[in-house]
Amino acid sequence: MIRDPETFNILLDTLRRFVRERLIPAEQQLVDSDEIPPAIIAEMREMGLFGLTIPVEYGGLGLTTEEEALTSMEMCRASPAFRSIAGTNNGIGSQGIVIDGTDEQKKKYLPRLASGELIGSFALTEPGAGSDAGSLTTSARRDGDHYVVNGAKRFITNAPEAGVFTLMARTDPQSKDASGVSAFIVERATPGLTVGKPDRKMGQRGSHTADVIFDNARVPAANIIGGKEGMGFKTAIRPAGRRVSAGAGDARRLPDRDFRRAQHDAGSRAQTRQRRERDYGSVVLQVLRL
Ligand SMILES: Cc1cc2nc3c(=O)[nH]c(=O)nc-3n(C[C@H](O)[C@H](O)[C@H](O)COP(=O)(O)OP(=O)(O)OC[C@H]3O[C@@H](n4cnc5c(N)ncnc54)[C@H](O)[C@@H]3O)c2cc1C
Repeated sequence: MIRDPETFNILLDTLRRFVRERLIPAEQQLVDSDEIPPAIIAEMREMGLFGLTIPVEYGGLGLTTEEEALTSMEMCRASPAFRSIAGTNNGIGSQGIVIDGTDEQKKKYLPRLASGELIGSFALTEPGAGSDAGSLTTSARRDGDHYVVNGAKRFITNAPEAGVFTLMARTDPQSKDASGVSAFIVERATPGLTVGKPDRKMGQRGSHTADVIFDNARVPAANIIGGKEGMGFKTAIRPAGRRVSAGAGDARRLPDRDFRRAQHDAGSRAQTRQRRERDYGSVVLQVLRL
């Protein structure tokens, strides 16, 4: 659903200009350095792109799923790595807290995810648990006011950059399926948590995945999402709709980009780039928060 087409079109126009004038020209640098230029991340933060889906009361733009899909399609006119760095904050890295989090958890983490101060990451997959995610073996054992976490996660997007992880771990050791899995908010500085070297992938330069290892990591019991055990898998699956809406952008990119390349090769893309308006990001933020 698009709630206010006029206001929303301002956001899309702004994004379109940002992609054309800032992201596409930075693509070669992204490929060469395997890193999104920090200045671009700063601009993305300023424009509110890390909080597209986070409710307005927590500092986000509170977009609907349709609105998010359309913004994703604009973002993905440039390399998907640019969308991906904010993608976890807008999807699986925040929506578990948005949907199931306690008031304290929402107040503590959502504003920092919305502003992009914290990069969120979602840790479900393991070396032995991929498609069958409910069979995961990472354990979380209650010990007083904490849970002690042991296990390894694999292919975790944005792990090298993450300030906070949504972790899926088994709290009921007797269970064999998803019913015994709980979700935790785990801060990067947690003792016993280490992030491996970024994986070497065939593509997606600038978007990083890595292993995340938990070795007797002590996570406060207050950080179990929803305040109780067994909500993990439900939390993992419910943001899937958000992932699909973001995926709309990735899916559109290939034909769109091929077309642009063909145009470029034919020499018909000789437009002069207009100077970027300095304050367009904050204008959009202000309009959308009205
Ligand atoms: C770039 C990238 C980023 C990722 N980011 C994250 C992340 O941020 N967080 C996270 O938790 N995970 C992440 N993942 C992991 C991803 O979710 C898993 O790769 C995915 O769930 C598949 O698991 P797997 O790789 O172990 O493959 P497997 O589950 O081993 O599957 C291998 C193949 O077997 C097929 N298959 C599996 N089971 C069946 C079945 N029962 N019947 C028929 N066919 C079957 C699959 O379709 C697939 O083709 C990422 C992966 C990649 C590549």
